[in-house]
Amino acid sequence: WRECISIASVLIGAYASYKYYKLFKTRDIPRPKEGVEELIGNTPLVKIRSLTKATGVNIYAKLELCNPAGSAKDRVALNIIKTAEELGELVRGEPGWVFEGTSGSTGISIAVVCNALGYRAHISLPDDTSLEKLALLESLGATVNKVKPASIVDPNQYVNAAKKACNELKKSGNGIRAVFADQFENEANWKVHYQTTGPEIAHQTKGNIDAFIAGCGTGGTITGVAKFLKERAKIPCHVVLADPQGSGFYNRVNYGVMYDYVEKEGTRRRHQVDTIVEGIGLNRITHNFHMGEKFIDESIRVNDNQAIRMAKYLSVNDGLFVGSSTAINAVAAIQVAKTLPHGSNIVIIACDSGSRHLSKFWKEAKEIDHDVSLEEVINI
Ligand code: PMP
Repeated sequence: WRECISIASVLIGAYASYKYYKLFKTRDIPRPKEGVEELIGNTPLVKIRSLTKATGVNIYAKLELCNPAGSAKDRVALNIIKTAEELGELVRGEPGWVFEGTSGSTGISIAVVCNALGYRAHISLPDDTSLEKLALLESLGATVNKVKPASIVDPNQYVNAAKKACNELKKSGNGIRAVFADQFENEANWKVHYQTTGPEIAHQTKGNIDAFIAGCGTGGTITGVAKFLKERAKIPCHVVLADPQGSGFYNRVNYGVMYDYVEKEGTRRRHQVDTIVEGIGLNRITHNFHMGEKFIDESIRVNDNQAIRMAKYLSVNDGLFVGSSTAINAVAAIQVAKTLPHGSNIVIIACDSGSRHLSKFWKEAKEIDHDVSLEEVINI
């Protein structure tokens, strides 16, 4: 009997261990993280089933909205701050301020990373930025400086205002460290996408990526990812810049000229882009865009009506509640899919969630008919 009992307990023990192993193995649970900054990156890739079914091409979204502060900009904020620490411009455990001019996402990421690492954030932004982003920044404890939307040549434009505020703190002589994040020009921006987002996408697609689609704000995402994919993906990858109405990248990529950037009557025409879409589209060439220009094969222009319809379509058909730049990328993906053989793979960036855009973009998108068709999205 004793032998029977010990054999039975060994068997029960082995069965329990097997069950325990299977439970955790199949769930692939990540190890505990030491802090919020460690949650940044390694975002999921998800198939957009509705678009895949409609086109016969696998269309995936890289869910950057799963980063802890809600967008791809978490990667950039962390890398800019880490680079400043490496240069001794910020010292962990000592007071330090990070200044940035941003239409929202980067500011939120900087505020969260600053809070996690013990710094303070000062964010200048245009006063027409969506209310959610503004409220979020204030809730995070960032100092917020709202300025009138203006051309980049205007000293009061939000990027210039941030730089000025940073210089003033530096000059004040009180010894507090201050850094201007400078996302448009700072190389830490495209480099982090080259080092992390690009390799993650290559890994998640096993290198079989036929097309990559992203919008361009600073240019950091498209430059970093495109450079990596062109150099390292298994097959040639077609890189597409999805551009909102009124932005100059479309002409720059397709025709080599940023028409909207020409001098007119002695002054530069306005640099703002007239679109409901936030975070992408510009009428000037930033360093982070320029670094990757040669890796971009094509630009597709998408209008606001297409974007709001696509956002609604993805929400009701896939459960993907995305922001405006993601919707733009998805519209472009449909166009690109038409040019690719069945079974090809497209990856688009899903930079942020729709909840960042409730009072502006989604105010219009929610009014779109629940049964909106893809034909309507494309042909409008
Ligand atoms: N989508 C959103 C919502 C953004 O805020 C941004 C950045 N401004 C982008 C896309 C574009 O990213 P990048 O700056 O890397 O070009």
